[in-house]
Amino acid sequence: MRRISLIIAAVSALVFGSCNNGKQVKLPVTRTFECDVLVVGGGPAGIGAAVCAARHGANTILAERGGCLGGMATAGLVAPFMSSTTPDGQTMLIRGFYEELVNRMEAQGGAIHPLKAQIGSFSAYRDKGHHGLTTFDYECLKRTTEEMCKEAGVELLYNALFVRCDKHRGRITAAYFATKAGIWKIVANTYIDCTGDGDVACSAGAPYVYGDGEGDIQATSLFFVVRNVDWKAMDAHDAACRKAGDYEGQFYMREILAAREAGEFPMWRQKIALFQNLDGTATVNMAQSDGVDGLDPKQVSDALTEGREQAAIVVKFLRKYVKGCENCELASTAEQLGVRETRRIVGEYTVTTEDAKNSVRYEDPVFCCANHMDIHRKGYVEYVARNTNDPYWFPYRALLPKKVDNLLCAGRCAAAERPVMAAIRVIPPCFAMGQAAGTAAALALKAGVRPKDLNPTALVTTLREDGVYLPE
Ligand SMILES: Cc1cc2nc3c(=O)[nH]c(=O)nc-3n(C[C@H](O)[C@H](O)[C@H](O)COP(=O)(O)OP(=O)(O)OC[C@H]3O[C@@H](n4cnc5c(N)ncnc54)[C@H](O)[C@@H]3O)c2cc1C
Repeated sequence: MRRISLIIAAVSALVFGSCNNGKQVKLPVTRTFECDVLVVGGGPAGIGAAVCAARHGANTILAERGGCLGGMATAGLVAPFMSSTTPDGQTMLIRGFYEELVNRMEAQGGAIHPLKAQIGSFSAYRDKGHHGLTTFDYECLKRTTEEMCKEAGVELLYNALFVRCDKHRGRITAAYFATKAGIWKIVANTYIDCTGDGDVACSAGAPYVYGDGEGDIQATSLFFVVRNVDWKAMDAHDAACRKAGDYEGQFYMREILAAREAGEFPMWRQKIALFQNLDGTATVNMAQSDGVDGLDPKQVSDALTEGREQAAIVVKFLRKYVKGCENCELASTAEQLGVRETRRIVGEYTVTTEDAKNSVRYEDPVFCCANHMDIHRKGYVEYVARNTNDPYWFPYRALLPKKVDNLLCAGRCAAAERPVMAAIRVIPPCFAMGQAAGTAAALALKAGVRPKDLNPTALVTTLREDGVYLPE
């Protein structure tokens, strides 16, 4: 009897709910960890956050639901890294941690530097406005980011799904993870939500916006890879069409229309979208599902299945209509659905579309970029024009959710109006947001202040010292 009560005392009861609203189930905590900074989500933002927090002295855990780092860039098969340069491709804007990562990958033959990627060249989109992409190798990204975590002293915890947190007087006091070995609890001083979906922020009661705020949500896409592409033939067709000014021909838009009429292409995609990888395969972004709630596992399951059906259809289309793809075959489909949009926090400051259009400057800039604002709506892509070609800025306050004192949010769930997030959700800015969040968390801990009270000048100075491009 005594033994039983000791066991019961050893495990603390945990009450589960979905964002604090669902049915409640009591489960025991089987293991507890403590750290200075807990980063949840190991995508581009989470990697940047964890490594930079640890480099600045914070004892850091990075918890990820999957079995590798990279998020959409590995488990989602998204490639290449979108532009990290000025629109003319001449100046690299996203530097710091991202540049270091690219350099390390390039040294291993696992990436092409963005300044070497001009339109029409190996790794660039064959489209206007897409200079400065980074073609990379998925495995090299997984390995290099794990190495960087290890070197910085980040403790990695894979197969750990964040399910909820406890909060007391405006502070998160513990985070709970579903694992194969039961519920694990992590107690940290500061938490960084890099789940893309703002799972931690939601559970902590931080206000957020979902999609357009009125129920509309951008389409999801399942990425896949094809092999046996004849790039010489692809390039020859591309060059001939560009010379003739035949944009529709370049992207096989007429063939897509013809195939749709023949019942061979039921998706609404208007253009082919194949990106050449270092190993000669092509990453394909042509499958698409509308109206999928990326927070609903059942809807995500259905979209994954639909995406794989569409991948088979696209491969048939490519083989029949696209020069150089006559013998292509499906090599792999992504494990994670490409979710463009779910929650964005309401931040201490939320970057507005007007800010980005006009390159508004802030007192607390953490990066600048020049990515397109493109919203993937049902049946078309909406581009939001800017009033200047100058880079636009992102302030530290947009990483700070309202109503929670010891939480930062980086990556796709940060605070920006919809069109701005449609631009800065691409991979290089997400690394930059992560770097800023991790650095800030560590600096705030050292200074003994809340992240909200961190002196922005100290943060900007440290980011500059760490290679972030923040011109006066
Ligand atoms: C269809 C599509 C096409 C795109 N094309 C490009 C492109 O060509 N180039 C480009 O640069 N960008 C592209 N992007 C954007 C880019 O891939 C993502 O927006 C970017 O990866 C977001 O980074 P992140 O770190 O915020 O989130 P993610 O990359 O989504 O990483 C989040 C991580 O958190 C983990 N996670 C989530 N929830 C939990 C939880 N509850 N507990 C524990 N772990 C959790 C996930 O497993 C994942 O590893 C595309 C995105 C989509 C959807």
